[in-house]
Amino acid sequence: MINSDNSNTFDPRHASVSPDALTGRVVAITGATGGIGQAVAIACAKAGAEVILLGRSIKKLEALHAQIESLEASPSIPSPLIAPLDLERAIAKDYDELANAIEARWGRLDGLVHTAGILGQLSAIEHQDVPTWIKVMHVNVTAMFTMTQSLLPLMRAAPSASIVCTSSSVGRKGRAFWGAYAVSKFAVEGFVQVLADELEQTRVRVNSLNPGRTRTAMRRQAFPAEDPKTLPAPETVAGSYLALLSDASEGISGQAFDAFNT
Ligand code: NDP
Repeated sequence: MINSDNSNTFDPRHASVSPDALTGRVVAITGATGGIGQAVAIACAKAGAEVILLGRSIKKLEALHAQIESLEASPSIPSPLIAPLDLERAIAKDYDELANAIEARWGRLDGLVHTAGILGQLSAIEHQDVPTWIKVMHVNVTAMFTMTQSLLPLMRAAPSASIVCTSSSVGRKGRAFWGAYAVSKFAVEGFVQVLADELEQTRVRVNSLNPGRTRTAMRRQAFPAEDPKTLPAPETVAGSYLALLSDASEGISGQAFDAFNT
């Protein structure tokens, strides 16, 4: 059950998380081959989690798998599971297969991190391309919802489980020309609030996290003229994801957090 003892004071940026905080936990990460997702996957593995790497490129997933396997740690890092899934094309059967594979191997899921996302077209609402709008809403919102829905029974089966949805500053305050991307991130915030309310009497918590400007391919696409050296590396936000996945955030649900310092 949710207990909100630390709900007024919890801040993932400053939470105390032990180096082995996720030992024995099973954590799935969408967008695991992306800038932020990869940093989160590696941080989770280093913290002892058995990670499920979700992505659309088998080649990139295999490279990340090899990278995690080569990490030096004591005790040794559990081998990750690769789960190829194109969120633009996935259908119910694909989500069922994923849930069945997790069920067969672990019987539960302790953490689910949504980082997969696309930017779409930065332009005025008047000029938004409709097919691109639909694609952005599908990958950023509908796929996140569908995956959560199919994995929720496994999260209910865990002693305590945490869902982290990746948001954005433009999903909290609208900004001109951010179109479907901004609207999709507002939907992410709404999804978190609705789901948290529904899960109030359970041991599953769900929160949103805004990584802030981070040196990744998406940021480069949005700001091509920006010098990437001026941006924080994705590794700098991984700690906040860990805090939301670990016992440090027990009892915290339905909240919107930032991973960056203002
Ligand atoms: P990246 O572009 O590096 O990562 C996005 C990830 O989403 C990639 O792994 C990509 O896969 C995956 N993805 C995209 N489309 C699909 C699809 N159809 N099926 C499966 N996976 C897909 O961007 P970031 O790491 O920056 O973004 C991570 C999250 O952080 C996003 O939700 C973004 O909105 C959010 N965010 C980022 C900020 C920033 O400044 N970077 C600021 C605020 C929020 P692939 O590797 O194959 O391309």
